[in-house]
Amino acid sequence: MICLTLTRDTISDDLEDVRHNLDWIDLVELRVDRLSNPDPDAVARFPGELAKMTGGENAGPASILTVRRPADGGSWSGSEADRLAVLSQSISEGGFDYLDLELDLAETPDGRRLAELARSGGTRIIRSVHNFEGMPDDLARLYEDLSAREDEIPKLAVTPRTSADLLVLVGLILDTGPRERIIIGMGAVGFPMRVAARRLGGYLSYASASSNPDVAAAPGHVTPRVLAETYRYREQSPETAVFGIIGNPVLHSGSPEYHNRHFLEKNLDAVYIPFQVDDLDAFFVTAVRLDIRGLSVTVPHKEGVIPHLDETDESVVPVGACNTVLITDGRRRGLNTDVAGFLLPLERAIGASGPEAFDGMRATVIGAGGAARAVVFALLRLGVRLCIVNRTPERAERMGAEIAEAVGGEQPVVAELGPDAASLIEEHGSLIVQTTSVGMEPEVTADPLAFYEFRGHEIAYDLIYAPEQTRFLTRAAAAGCLTIPGTSMFEEQALAQAAHFEHIL
Ligand code: NAP
Repeated sequence: MICLTLTRDTISDDLEDVRHNLDWIDLVELRVDRLSNPDPDAVARFPGELAKMTGGENAGPASILTVRRPADGGSWSGSEADRLAVLSQSISEGGFDYLDLELDLAETPDGRRLAELARSGGTRIIRSVHNFEGMPDDLARLYEDLSAREDEIPKLAVTPRTSADLLVLVGLILDTGPRERIIIGMGAVGFPMRVAARRLGGYLSYASASSNPDVAAAPGHVTPRVLAETYRYREQSPETAVFGIIGNPVLHSGSPEYHNRHFLEKNLDAVYIPFQVDDLDAFFVTAVRLDIRGLSVTVPHKEGVIPHLDETDESVVPVGACNTVLITDGRRRGLNTDVAGFLLPLERAIGASGPEAFDGMRATVIGAGGAARAVVFALLRLGVRLCIVNRTPERAERMGAEIAEAVGGEQPVVAELGPDAASLIEEHGSLIVQTTSVGMEPEVTADPLAFYEFRGHEIAYDLIYAPEQTRFLTRAAAAGCLTIPGTSMFEEQALAQAAHFEHIL
């Protein structure tokens, strides 16, 4: 189930949020502690208001009553006696389907009374513990305590900070018997626990009306629509194949949107999840436990992932980067789809492919970073004569020599980025590939080749994809050059990756 946590100042605003999200939610959690005026009568009327919203034709979303204390990450500013009074009045009037009660109330007389009141009115108890700082040491014990009563739903919401923490949480789920339960990893590292909660056998996943971290109810919340449509939460089952992206940071990545849409279009029972990884050893244990089938790899793990692979395609080692991992029968195969992603738009622009299409070509590569390596590998393998121009020429020298040796190609000429390189670039001017980060948002007026005047016969290819039209490209186009934006490479490498993922399903 998808649960919308309501955190507005007034109940009418909360109901407005419910109305906007009705298509994607099964439950709402009324956070009474977030109301500016937590009037017990209005709170007690809330389930009735909720029922009216669907016109009584459908059951409408179920409701959870929560009044969270500051110590548990809530905003309740009244006394504990007042809090218990609000809970008691709202529950005794019936209507709420669930009551969230903290673990420490389980053994107090007030807490027991509240629980009895709830049970007698048919309200189920969610027994909760929250830790917004990190992972409690005694996690297993805590979970045991939360799970003490069969008729309650244990809810453990903690904050994993590292890949090892996430592994502990995944272990807790997989190593304890199945039951109705809510185990949440808050924040970026715990994000997979939210979007794949159903795949992991969770009872529900919480969401906020806005995923803006400043207003979301808890760290890592996305909107119900993102859960339902991007992660296809409601269609997940224990059989759903898990794919993902590893990086650090990673939540900004557009890859989950792209690959989940691809799975949907191909009608594949698979979900693609972002994993913020600080420790590849711990992550790959998690990958085994979750039976992850394939991964995209992004900064800073493209190089570090290589020792974790059982086999690689011919580009990974010379390029020194792997951006795709396919896992079948426990074996990890590393690929680099940047190479094909770079070449395909170029071949389309030339209107031909294969070594013949590049016969006699002389090209310049600007830059010698990670992206440049895939470009240099692709071009040297096709027999293109290269010049590499970089701010740090020694780096270019090293890269050129290494890759030329690996592919048996001609060693590139190297120059320092600056006006002195202009004549060399002219000599290697059939194709100029810009691979530095210069000109990327927000520095969109920067141009690493400002000293070079395009003749108009060059193909100008910029790997930067934000913005799509860089200063380098607009100058080249104005001179009459054929231009290729980085978005083309980005789309092709993602498409190649998606085809690999689809193939192993
Ligand atoms: P990287 O490994 O950090 O390399 C950065 C390169 O830019 C190096 O050659 C560096 O020169 C140069 N550079 C940085 N700041 C500079 C400056 N102020 N003046 C001159 N040169 C400078 O980065 P990367 O991973 O290769 O990524 C580079 C770009 O490619 C990024 O914009 C990235 O978004 C893009 N990219 C696009 C795709 C795609 O699919 N379209 C794929 C991968 C990357 P030094 O060696 O002297 O430091």
